[in-house]
Amino acid sequence: MASLVHAALTMRKTVRASFGLLVAALFALAPLLGVFRTSTSGEIGIEHAIVGGVWAGWLAWRLSQRLRRDDAPAPTARRERMLLEAELGLLLIAGVHGVVQAMGGLDGPVYAMVYVLVAFIAAFAVAPVGAILVLAAIAYEVALWALTGRGVAVERVAIHGVFIAFFGVLNLVFTRVEIARVRERSRKERDEERARVEADVRLFRLVGAPSAEAAEGSGEKVVRSSVDEVRDSLFHVLELLKKTLDLHTCILLFAGEDKRLRIIEMATDSDDVDEGPFEVGAGAVGAVATRGIVMNLENLKPGYRGLCYYREGASKARSFLGVPVLEHGQLRGALCADRLDGRAFSPREEEILKSAVGQVLRGIQNERVFVQLERSKREQAQLFKASRELGAALTEDEVLEAGLSAAAAIARFDLAAITFFDADKRVHSVRIARGLGADAVHGVSFKDNHSLTAMVVKNKHYLPYKGELDPKQVLYTSRVTLPSMRSALVMPLVVREGAIGTLAVAAERANAFGDGVRPTLQALSNQLAIALSNARAVKRLEEMATTDGLTGCLNKRAFLEDLEAKIRSAQRFQKKLSLIVTDIDHFKSVNDTYGHATGDVVIKELGAILMRVKRETDRVARFGGEEFCVLCEETDTEGAVQLAERIREELGKTVFQTELGKLKVAASLGVATFPADASSSAGLFEITDKALYAAKHGGRNQVRTAADV
Ligand code: GH3
Ligand code: MG
Ligand code: MG
Repeated sequence: MASLVHAALTMRKTVRASFGLLVAALFALAPLLGVFRTSTSGEIGIEHAIVGGVWAGWLAWRLSQRLRRDDAPAPTARRERMLLEAELGLLLIAGVHGVVQAMGGLDGPVYAMVYVLVAFIAAFAVAPVGAILVLAAIAYEVALWALTGRGVAVERVAIHGVFIAFFGVLNLVFTRVEIARVRERSRKERDEERARVEADVRLFRLVGAPSAEAAEGSGEKVVRSSVDEVRDSLFHVLELLKKTLDLHTCILLFAGEDKRLRIIEMATDSDDVDEGPFEVGAGAVGAVATRGIVMNLENLKPGYRGLCYYREGASKARSFLGVPVLEHGQLRGALCADRLDGRAFSPREEEILKSAVGQVLRGIQNERVFVQLERSKREQAQLFKASRELGAALTEDEVLEAGLSAAAAIARFDLAAITFFDADKRVHSVRIARGLGADAVHGVSFKDNHSLTAMVVKNKHYLPYKGELDPKQVLYTSRVTLPSMRSALVMPLVVREGAIGTLAVAAERANAFGDGVRPTLQALSNQLAIALSNARAVKRLEEMATTDGLTGCLNKRAFLEDLEAKIRSAQRFQKKLSLIVTDIDHFKSVNDTYGHATGDVVIKELGAILMRVKRETDRVARFGGEEFCVLCEETDTEGAVQLAERIREELGKTVFQTELGKLKVAASLGVATFPADASSSAGLFEITDKALYAAKHGGRNQVRTAADV
């Protein structure tokens, strides 16, 4: 019966899922049955219009659903989308063949519509569906030939089939290639834009090249906009020079790290300026830029090759003036001007160009200051946010999480992890890790070895130098290798006593943690260290407030709080709860005979026994002196007595070695249960105490319950 229901449900689901396909198949049946054949009457009848209208309406509805599917989450929607596309394709095939049939059939004048349709389907449907639909179109036509009464004209079907396949494949391939091409182009453009900004940043020496360091998002925007501003102000200076000195071209070139000249900005009427970069050394421009001399040339011949910024042989300039660009005595490039009319540059014009260099440099320097200010503002904001989040984190785990997310806001890394150092055991362990390879790293412990981490803790100084990770360097232990990481930075978490661990970040790209981010990360590490040590102090205080110093069991106050809560919940859920009270027999004489210190050892051992034999949910407290309490949730008297007996036996078996020889002690225990024996915590204590008293009176070294009171 159940399987029948299951089968019915499955069938319903399948039918619902393929309902659209079913409808499309019904439409497809119409041309196959020759519904649109008009050869006899030669006219389009009312029945054709009705079928056509319904078809169009249905197609429009399903199409609107397909368009809406684009917004649906990808994984769930993909299958549905493919089904819908198959359905729409089938509908279109049916529709087009309906029209073809109405307009004279497969030999008619509009048959080419089928090719257009196939091309359309191949271009727009998801790849596998597109291919299936093209095959379906061929099969459909074979069926049409067969069913509309003419028999299969093999030759013609073959020709149509080849064409359909041809159009389908052609479009399939072309569209995919086109998509890939567009994607590739936009990726290239993005990379080029990025490279341009990076090159500019380096040329202008604006600190903190954005891609080389973390500055994603807002940071990059700051640098980009200031680079653009440099460009704007430069352009205005050059444009002004061009107008004042009546120039053909005024151009500023800087030497890059590769010693080649790059155009920083220019104002020109020429279409022949090359985009560079240019090899220095050759010609007039090279002399200015490499030797730092002023070049003032006249009577230049058209096509003169010394002006490297023109395409080879395309220079029309008749006179040229180039002045070196010196910054703090260092040669950085050349500011060049040329004219077409052959007028030589006068000494006064030379002075003007030289003073313009000063203005150009001042603009760039202003921008540097601006970028630096923006950056430190951003760093301050990040650190402020980090310190607020670290401050709000109370537990160690919260601090670790906050630390890693703050690091992520500062630097772009592929892996980040925090280690702790146990100074007593001299062992490092990875407490938290995020990112690439985090699973392999997380939880790993290692000795005080030669790893970067161990050295960082020892020297309280970050490593590796410049943040470049040598493949031979080991981050944690040689057991865990991170071969793909080219950059890393391990920073010590330093508190007053020394380094308590490390914060490490690693990235696959090179130069990921340069001067631009390291100081901020170090400041974060310091904050993290303080927050961690605070969290530990809070934890210690909490432990001290709730546990007994000698035994590590709960103290009386914590136990009573717990008991109140447990009694309330037992009351609400109508559960039982038992209390065991233990008291060592003749303990005064142990103290008297063996000394207080030995007495303490005995108390500690009983605490250890209790913690060992109790169940997970039981709570153990030292209540004072040599008395302990055990609270057993969801336990009746019988169960609690079993536990009490085990405690008594365990203690009885324990032999203490003392200076006066071997010592054995025994204990008496009382047991009572809520709500059977008492209805409140005070009442429960009272009756348990009475049971203990009964045990003492009954000869000690035994367990008694409320029933014995
Ligand atoms: P009984 O069998 O009737 O329990 O006899 P007893 O001698 O054990 O009597 P009682 O339980 O009243 O004795 C409590 C003694 O435990 C008093 C005190 O000398 C000793 N004591 C209390 N606290 C400590 C402690 O922290 N360390 C040590 N060594 N002894 C303690
Ligand atoms: Mg006592
Ligand atoms: Mg006692």
